Amino acid sequence: MVLANSSGTAAVPIASRNAWSASDGASLYGLDRWGDPYFSVSPRGHVMVQPRGDRGGALDLVELVQELQGRDLSLPLLIRFDDILEDRLERLHTAFERAIAQYGYAGRYQGVFPVKCNQQRHVVEQLVETGRRWHFGLEAGSKAELLIALSLLEDPEALLICNGYKDRRYIETAILARRLGRKPVVVIEQADEVPRIIAASRDLGGAPLIGIRAKLSSRSTGRWGSSVGDRAKFGLSIPDVLATVEALRQADLLDDLRLLHFHIGSQINDIAVLKDALQEAGQIYGELTRLGAPMGYLDVGGGLGIDYDGSRTASAASTNYSLQNYANDVVATVRECCEPHGIAVPTLVSESGRAIASHFSVLVFDVLGAGALPGGVPEPVAAEPLILRNLRDTQAAIIANGDADAATAPSVERLQEAWNDALKFKDDALAAFRLGYLSLPERARAEQLTWACCQAIASQLEALPPGTAIPEELKALAAALAGTYYANLSVFRSAPDTWAIDQLFPVLPIHRLDEQPSRLGSFADLTCDSDGKLARFIDRGQAKPLLELHPLRDGEPYWIGLFLAGAYQEVMGNLHNLFGSTNAVHIRLADGGRYRVEHVVRGDTNADVLEAMEHDPAQLLERLRLASETAIARGSLAISDARRLMAHLKASLEQTTYLEG
Ligand SMILES: *Cc1c(COP(=O)(O)O)cnc(C)c1O
Repeated sequence: MVLANSSGTAAVPIASRNAWSASDGASLYGLDRWGDPYFSVSPRGHVMVQPRGDRGGALDLVELVQELQGRDLSLPLLIRFDDILEDRLERLHTAFERAIAQYGYAGRYQGVFPVKCNQQRHVVEQLVETGRRWHFGLEAGSKAELLIALSLLEDPEALLICNGYKDRRYIETAILARRLGRKPVVVIEQADEVPRIIAASRDLGGAPLIGIRAKLSSRSTGRWGSSVGDRAKFGLSIPDVLATVEALRQADLLDDLRLLHFHIGSQINDIAVLKDALQEAGQIYGELTRLGAPMGYLDVGGGLGIDYDGSRTASAASTNYSLQNYANDVVATVRECCEPHGIAVPTLVSESGRAIASHFSVLVFDVLGAGALPGGVPEPVAAEPLILRNLRDTQAAIIANGDADAATAPSVERLQEAWNDALKFKDDALAAFRLGYLSLPERARAEQLTWACCQAIASQLEALPPGTAIPEELKALAAALAGTYYANLSVFRSAPDTWAIDQLFPVLPIHRLDEQPSRLGSFADLTCDSDGKLARFIDRGQAKPLLELHPLRDGEPYWIGLFLAGAYQEVMGNLHNLFGSTNAVHIRLADGGRYRVEHVVRGDTNADVLEAMEHDPAQLLERLRLASETAIARGSLAISDARRLMAHLKASLEQTTYLEG
């Protein structure tokens, strides 16, 4: 009988061990697998951060959070470790350098960072600065990102890959950027872009560097690999590729065709899929050179995956390859496609976003409380409706069952039957309430009685001999009984992928890891939305609905970290226009185990959020000004009203998206 203690949360059915140590905590949450080399657990049970990976230096994450709080930086807090970002960039380049040496590849690697992966200025700036020694460039997928990339990338050797929807202004900007001394490559993704590029080049008297995105027939197993993914939407079919080459030749632009691009999806789980795509792209590349294009670059897109759950498998939250395997396959396969045919090997480009940016940021939030279930059995009242009496009888019968002798000992079938009855009566209660036959207090008692049935059944399940087969539905009861931990967080804002695409992130307490957790729970956030919860957790190649957690202690905070959150999270959050970015800080390791707070980034204003979504706040105001002029002329709005309206709009734009305390 371990269920249903005073707080109503469930106890973890783990055989208790004599000595639980911090390393047990590391292994329970998989941190010893996905965290390497950046995260570990100290003997005190605190998460430690090694921002420079294997090169030494460590920070205690708990002490760091305490000291940041001392600087008035409250939770939830996104902590970005710029050293990790640098280390990832370094590792990516080292992996390609090794592969190039190993296979005697007669070309170079020259990557770009896809801005959409993390558009934060400090992040992009940092990557451009650190990447300068490799002429590391940027990839833009929209006009706004093109402007970001144009303003930050000054290295004339670094590539500026221009993807996404391209209107005339986008193309002209790229052409002018080339004259400015940059290296923009406009990648043709749809056939209708070809005439626009030709017309703009003619009118401006100069072309951009041109790339072609091929739609490959190799399938992807990644999350985006289905027919609705990028692959199906973007890219030229083989006939379109050939027609484009002809059109460029006719327009005298074939000399500017320098790059072949493909992108088979994000988070490629299975390396076999990448190999197929590389072979196909390698052949197309060879064909383009035979058709007379100078070429020179092969861009293998993004997709380099992250092992979120540490399982090293081809499952959704993992990959069956390492960074070095990836680089080796790219280098070896492209070489095999080119050398036998006497084609000069291209400079290899990748647009790895997730692989560069995931590790460096950690979201830390606090738990405000743990929810208790509506516990206990309500006292019977006079003239109770039949439905409530039925529930009461069901609950009493379950209890009586458990106390009975061997002849009538609780059987799984009887418990299942009782549960079916309880559910039926609960549904009846809801129906009766909707029809007006049950009052609100009566409905509340019905729910309480259903929970009491649930708890009684769950306790009896615990008492069954080990190894008894238990139906899934009854197993789920234990889950329903588990605790809800209320998190000071907006899932939509801070971890939108968990909600939008079921992305799994490692989540764990950042302290007390030297103490065996004794509860199972999930997190509910501050939004009133029923989807505002974290209820899927990594589990070695799978996902589990409940996480092992510790009971809350009075007057003591309980801090949770969500790891590997640096890619896409911060950006996608802007699509959900409820909340802007949280406060964030950038930390640098300093001498003697100390650190510096490099940047403090205050949260977004509404205008920022609009701008991140490519609205122009000034234009928005102007449109409303014109509309109000029309209304004034019509006589439906007083001048003083219009003035007030505009003042409110302006003030709203300047406010942050969070309630300011
Ligand atoms: C999203 C995207 C990327 C980045 O993919 P990752 O999986 O994060 O490396 C690269 N290229 C294109 C065209 C993309 O759309």
